[in-house]
Amino acid sequence: MNEQTDSEAPATQAARGGWAADFVTRPSAPPLYQTTAFDLEDLGQLDDVVSGKSQGYIYTRDGNPNREAFASDVARLEGAEAGVACSSGMGALTATLMALLKSGDHLVAARVLYGRTGQLLNHLQNSFGVRVTFVDANQPDEFAAAVTPGTKLAIVESVSNPLLEVADLPAIAAAVGGVPLLVDSTFATPCLLRPIDHGATLVWHSASKYLNGHGDVMLGVIVGPSASIRRIKGLSSLYGVNSNPYECWMASRGLRTLPLRIERVSASAQILAEFLASQPQVGRVYYPGLPAHPTRRQAERLLTRGCGGMLSFELNGGRPAVDAFFRELAETIPFSPTLADARTTLSYPAGTSHKFMTAAERAACGIRDGLVRLSVGLEDAGDLQRELSAGLACL
Ligand SMILES: *Cc1c(COP(=O)(O)O)cnc(C)c1O
Repeated sequence: MNEQTDSEAPATQAARGGWAADFVTRPSAPPLYQTTAFDLEDLGQLDDVVSGKSQGYIYTRDGNPNREAFASDVARLEGAEAGVACSSGMGALTATLMALLKSGDHLVAARVLYGRTGQLLNHLQNSFGVRVTFVDANQPDEFAAAVTPGTKLAIVESVSNPLLEVADLPAIAAAVGGVPLLVDSTFATPCLLRPIDHGATLVWHSASKYLNGHGDVMLGVIVGPSASIRRIKGLSSLYGVNSNPYECWMASRGLRTLPLRIERVSASAQILAEFLASQPQVGRVYYPGLPAHPTRRQAERLLTRGCGGMLSFELNGGRPAVDAFFRELAETIPFSPTLADARTTLSYPAGTSHKFMTAAERAACGIRDGLVRLSVGLEDAGDLQRELSAGLACL
């Protein structure tokens, strides 16, 4: 803190303002370090922080206490050695791919992925000469067959978007052998599944979703072995896909209630999935907690604490029925192209997360024109059932 005297000109007083005497009592909530850089005592301190000999921060693009707090909390929840937070889920994926791959390398990825993930892999392939083989995530043998000596990474979602297929992680990890397995666990969260316990190397989250959980943050995080995370963090700094302190501070606040929120949305989604499956306007319902779900067996083995808050269902009337349903529910369960808000929201995979695919590619992934995705929030389940029922009644 700068000593201020009345002899300083207003410009000097103003420019050096904003400081109270340093904390003499500890704040009971984590402070927000909304700062671009950190003041250093001298060149010795700079050298010590750069070399890691002493703890500290220099420049927020490279490191910040709020970023460290959030990333290390997620790492602990996932049972990982370390973590790094990035500007968004896609930012975290970018930093990871830049850190682990170079042109000519090969990666194996599940065919059904978050739309932008698939698009990014295609871009790497077309513009940077990374070779990508897409395989059926439900056929671990296909992963084994696709691995070559040049394979540097395998990518899969623990619970897939939007059909909620639960990956057989132990079988996939065994199939790829020594190749690092990156798992997008955005839908499962560490409350339902810890992929590292089942053979994954790195776990990736869009923290914009459940980890923050209040629909007001863009943030990504990746956790795994310290050596990999150090490289990913370095590349996130170099490519400028670092997180900012405010988003991390917000997400740390969200993280405190993650277990409670996941317990609640899992219970409500189970009720709503069973309700929807009994409705005449509804075709298939995709929820791993239903006996008819194609990956029910994996869910029973891996999702022992509940199946989460995401479910999808087909409206028999196709796209026109979806349009009418969304209009009817606009005031109660809004169409909002995100998920994992505190509120329940609806989305349309064919027109949002998967609009970058051709209709034929979508059909191959089972994403039909009547498919609606529901992100179950924290409201009373009875109210939600009544509202969905009213929406269906108008079809
Ligand atoms: C949203 C999402 C992403 C991308 O994360 P952003 O924070 O939006 O960049 C990746 N995977 C899944 C499953 C997602 O839902």
